Amino acid sequence: MTWTPSGRARVNRKGAQRWLRGHPWIYRSDVLELPDSGPGIVHVFSEQNRLLGSALWSPRSQITLRMLTTDDEPIDASFWHSRVAHAAAYRQQLHIDASAFRLVHGEADGLPSLIVDRYDEVVVVQLLSAGLESCRADIVNALLDIVQPTGILARNDVTVRRAEGLTEEVELLHGSVPEELEIAENNIRYLAAPWRGQKTGAFLDQRENRIRSGSLSNGRALDCFAYHGSFALHLAQRADEVVAVDSSAAALQRALQNAHLNSITNITTREANVFDFLRAEESLGERYDTIVVDPPAFAKRRDALDKALAAYKEVNLRALKLLNPGGYLATFSCSHHVSADLFREMINAAAIDARRPVRLIETRGQAADHPEILQIPESAYLKGVIVQVV
Ligand code: SAH
Repeated sequence: MTWTPSGRARVNRKGAQRWLRGHPWIYRSDVLELPDSGPGIVHVFSEQNRLLGSALWSPRSQITLRMLTTDDEPIDASFWHSRVAHAAAYRQQLHIDASAFRLVHGEADGLPSLIVDRYDEVVVVQLLSAGLESCRADIVNALLDIVQPTGILARNDVTVRRAEGLTEEVELLHGSVPEELEIAENNIRYLAAPWRGQKTGAFLDQRENRIRSGSLSNGRALDCFAYHGSFALHLAQRADEVVAVDSSAAALQRALQNAHLNSITNITTREANVFDFLRAEESLGERYDTIVVDPPAFAKRRDALDKALAAYKEVNLRALKLLNPGGYLATFSCSHHVSADLFREMINAAAIDARRPVRLIETRGQAADHPEILQIPESAYLKGVIVQVV
């Protein structure tokens, strides 16, 4: 079958260099000649008209081109099949002890703007660019062949689609997808909510951190920003009791359901603002031995970084003050603008102000099924450290 790109673009030296160094994004400001076609796949040329490869073309986005190849390989059904198969093969190597994991982590799997999460027999996808949308049928076919899922759901209700001129919607693409799915994670089971839950139905990126935090947990444990209790369930295995705090009553309801599913009886929930809760616990003289802090992204944009760091410091300082000597704090940030170095500095500053010298037990990141490509800093967003009060 012959393949023809839907148009052509020419990019400046800076854009070309970026791609040659392994980063797939070429910004609008580096494009010398825009394609005259609608969104889709285009050939990309250098200033000197040398073919650089093919890219996804997004007419409305500042990320105008997302490079796919460095040659003239056809971008057809077999291209998408081979990239998805490659991503799936990597997950097989990981021997993940869970029935839900990320199958495709976008740019980091050579599949820019595509997210695919597997929830047992169900697949949840996010198509996050206009260029990618034009390849939807090939991607769905590749998933049908490789995963043979009972259902495929598109959780395209994400704001980044607006910058692409796409609508936000949730759409069933194949078969059927239940409201709730029981997932096994190590020796824990939990309910994921593919249609309505956060992200694609659960926070899969924290899987390894939940298991690790569970293995350290002891005494009295606290799960801050608990959502469906996914950390709390792991903490409950070794702790005497676990308090799960979240501002969402519905999320906590689900946490209790999850506890029940595992016959866990030592979790209690508290519907509260974590900042207020920690302050109140301090004035009551309450103490804990294990604390997890896993807040939502405080810095969604770079210009909010200073405020975000202040908020991270505040919540971690309050948590550290509640720890007994020898107690563990496992703390995270999913803001990609907060670098690993900044995060570590923030914890250091919090520990100094809390007068709790800490031992660094581990630096943590996102689970290995959410690979981080060093050349693509945006592929790494989750940072964490585990420290122990000395
Ligand atoms: N730890 C979870 C994910 C946490 S997501 C997991 O691994 O699955 C962030 C959670 O923080 C959401 O459930 C949200 O309801 C809650 N949240 C956001 N701001 C909050 C606040 N100020 N106080 C308490 N909970 C908050």
